[in-house]
Amino acid sequence: MTSDCLFCRIVAGELPAAIVHETATTLAFRDIAPKAPVHVLVVPKAHHADVAELAKADPALAGDVLAAAAAVADLEGLVGSGFRVIFNTGEHGGQDVFHVHAHVLGGRRLGPMVS
Ligand code: IMP
Repeated sequence: MTSDCLFCRIVAGELPAAIVHETATTLAFRDIAPKAPVHVLVVPKAHHADVAELAKADPALAGDVLAAAAAVADLEGLVGSGFRVIFNTGEHGGQDVFHVHAHVLGGRRLGPMVS
């Protein structure tokens, strides 16, 4: 937990969030500015800055995040129609919050991936 990290504060229950799924190691909550009918963020409870750092430091936890993303897609009814999982990473990747998070997006046909 780092006290100046927005998602650490959500994990700690210090800031509100619409939680949709939780495991011992992950938390999933709705994005505050959804880009699709379903837009959920999946984070590891432990602080890691981005997916590259997470995969290097704790590959098992990276797997937990992916498994939680798939579970969220199932819970939200996206598995049949399809969905997208995105890890924005670093400046060119458009990452704004430096606590690694998977975006789970779906509920409509999504447009081109790169803009
Ligand atoms: P990034 O650009 O990949 O880092 O995505 C950060 C995401 O966090 C954006 O989609 C924001 O809308 C979302 N976000 C920012 N603050 C909050 C919050 O307090 N609750 C839920 N989502 C948030």
